[in-house]
Amino acid sequence: MSAHPAPATSAAPATADEDLLAFDRAHLWHPYTSMTDPAPVRLVTGASGARLELADGREVVDAMSSWWAAIHGYRHPVLDRALAEQAGRFSHVMFGGLTHGPAVELGRRLVAITPDPLERVFLADSGSVAVEVALKMVLQYQRGLARPERTRMLTVRGGYHGDTFDCMSVTDPVGGMHSMWSAVLPQQVFGPQPPRHDADAATVAGWDAAFRTLAARHAHELAGIVVEPLLQGAGGMHPYPPACLRTFREVADEHGLLLVFDEIATGFGRTGRLFAADLVLPDLLCVGKALTGGYLTLAAVLTTDAVAHGIAGSDSGVVMHGPTFMANPLACAVASASVDLLIADDWAGRVGRIGDRLATGLAPLRDLPGVRDVRTLGAVGVVQLDHPVDVPAATEAALDAGVWLRPFRDLVYAMPPYVVSETELDLLTGGIAAAVRAG
Ligand SMILES: *Cc1c(COP(=O)(O)O)cnc(C)c1O
Repeated sequence: MSAHPAPATSAAPATADEDLLAFDRAHLWHPYTSMTDPAPVRLVTGASGARLELADGREVVDAMSSWWAAIHGYRHPVLDRALAEQAGRFSHVMFGGLTHGPAVELGRRLVAITPDPLERVFLADSGSVAVEVALKMVLQYQRGLARPERTRMLTVRGGYHGDTFDCMSVTDPVGGMHSMWSAVLPQQVFGPQPPRHDADAATVAGWDAAFRTLAARHAHELAGIVVEPLLQGAGGMHPYPPACLRTFREVADEHGLLLVFDEIATGFGRTGRLFAADLVLPDLLCVGKALTGGYLTLAAVLTTDAVAHGIAGSDSGVVMHGPTFMANPLACAVASASVDLLIADDWAGRVGRIGDRLATGLAPLRDLPGVRDVRTLGAVGVVQLDHPVDVPAATEAALDAGVWLRPFRDLVYAMPPYVVSETELDLLTGGIAAAVRAG
């Protein structure tokens, strides 16, 4: 592979599809990839329901929901209509000094479906930005309480909170490549990773004690706690016991910290609960990914009234954030439609049925050579290998079995759209088995 591929336009591609792929390869970065030695990508030409249509004619079940987002599947008529209707009115206006129905209607819904005390809403343009805004709010709150020395965040190992700098600073220091960034990242405080969800009481108690000790040691400089509740996603697909959420809450209360739940991956029913915040109340809640049903980028931070008042008491008195595309009307309109669909559509029943079928379908993989662990939570199924996955081989094997998977590290996993059928789920577990055997 040449370090400077010739522009695709100078080649003579055989077909339009090859032309697209050649230009992509020469000019477009993909997530976490090299421009000079690009990993292979597949060309998508259509998508509907739980399926993606590839340029080579294959139709495959999307096990990834486009990274947790497409909970209602693709081309959902209700979401398509909501988007088209809003586009027919206006697609965007600035949110500074102006407001609009789609933002208000979405705010109404978010306040209604989250626990009562979470009633103030900041609409951000991506998950990472929502986490940035939440962290900023935590710092401003502490300043409002005349505690400006409280600038560090407490979190746990194994987390993932996004790719911008402050988000990276609270992401797992090993998986998040902190060594590369140590000179530029804020230095946060990392507690031990919570034990796995089926850990015994003694193990959970040991973790609890270690976390409390660390918090007490750093309390004077801590502003807040930020965690992904119940399930750590991109940091390692690690479900952990609800008891740990109570530890977070108690530690926050004991030391005057704000508790931030980053439910950007876990929100909207994925873990079998609408939000983990229904179990233990955070002071700030970040949602994103599935918020728009996977149609457009949008995220939100919800806070309690106490947080809003604390921020109001800070030096500036205002939240110092305001993205150009804040509360984009198209995204808000499709998000409201997605929330309505979720609530009307027995999400709990769907997630429960997917979870059962994943658990049954994946259980036999425990006995395959190279498999270290199989775990499921809500509509998430995970197979952990005892070695790094051979991603190209596993991906190709899954595609041959009719399934789109995106393994990482030692993990082959799935979180399909809630509209996936039983037949598609069987295809999906077959695809995971094929990927595991090949990877
Ligand atoms: C994906 C994710 C983010 C970042 O969201 P983006 O929209 O990709 O910026 C933050 N936190 C968690 C838990 C996520 O899963």
